Amino acid sequence: MQLSHPLRPTGVEAFIFPSGIRVEVARATPQFSVWTGVPPASTYGRKSVVDHDGRPAFAELSILWHLQAEGWGGAWVTHGGNRLIFRVGLMDVPPTEAVPAPLRRLLADIQAERGTTAGVWDVCCWRDGVFRFAEAKRGGRDRIRADQVLWLEAALRRGVPLDAFTVVEWTLDGSAPETPKARNVEPHLVPRPATIPTDVPAALRVSAHESVQAVYQPASDADYYEWIGRHPEGLVLSVRGRQLVLHRTSCSHINRNNNSITKAPKLCSTSRAALKRWAKEQGGLRDGIHLKACGTCKVEPE
Ligand SMILES: [Zn+2]
Repeated sequence: MQLSHPLRPTGVEAFIFPSGIRVEVARATPQFSVWTGVPPASTYGRKSVVDHDGRPAFAELSILWHLQAEGWGGAWVTHGGNRLIFRVGLMDVPPTEAVPAPLRRLLADIQAERGTTAGVWDVCCWRDGVFRFAEAKRGGRDRIRADQVLWLEAALRRGVPLDAFTVVEWTLDGSAPETPKARNVEPHLVPRPATIPTDVPAALRVSAHESVQAVYQPASDADYYEWIGRHPEGLVLSVRGRQLVLHRTSCSHINRNNNSITKAPKLCSTSRAALKRWAKEQGGLRDGIHLKACGTCKVEPE
């Protein structure tokens, strides 16, 4: 069976960096077939096994193998104990060290800069001086995480062009993507499902300071709970008298049903900077107001 290329772009996905810079990354939406043969011994925590031209694979490996067939060198990059692990096969195939030197250098540089391996994109490749990165997400299930946004930002800062990146939102067989509450709600990721340009590279663009860093003040409890439901990694500033407490939306303190906004007004945002700015403005108006991070959910200072 002729497999269509899993990186063929069908749209774009917008990312907003903490700086406010917005970029659009190509999105591919391939459909994989479920593997119906003998299941592999280990599925790395019950990952879906897909059929890659008659071989069992994970989505990441199918993407990698497509690229390898075109002469790209690289790996499905995982990490453990702050160490990058380069995989080219299922779990019975030992990790490889055979990664193109420029790719290894870039990954090491970004790791050194960020102080963590977290956020590295799933499939990292290099060929003739060109990088290629893909992040595989099961459509409707997985989301781009903040770490992956920051990793993208670090790579772009190092001169990797935007068109080296593809978000691969894959589905299995004919099954429609599931639509859980979490879809499309990452703090720095603002998807634009409405536009599907046929020529994605032309649509890739960078423009600074598009407005998405706004602070939202819900007008009712229903609005508030709706917002936190749609922003599982957003931030909430809870106003209690002269104290402003910054929480993650997942924090139990601001999630309970008795947490009415009439008792403690809430400011919601995906941007810590925007909430801080707001708090500063308030501080300018009223003396003695201070902002603190909740001791339970511990939003790190930036
Ligand atoms: Zn909290």
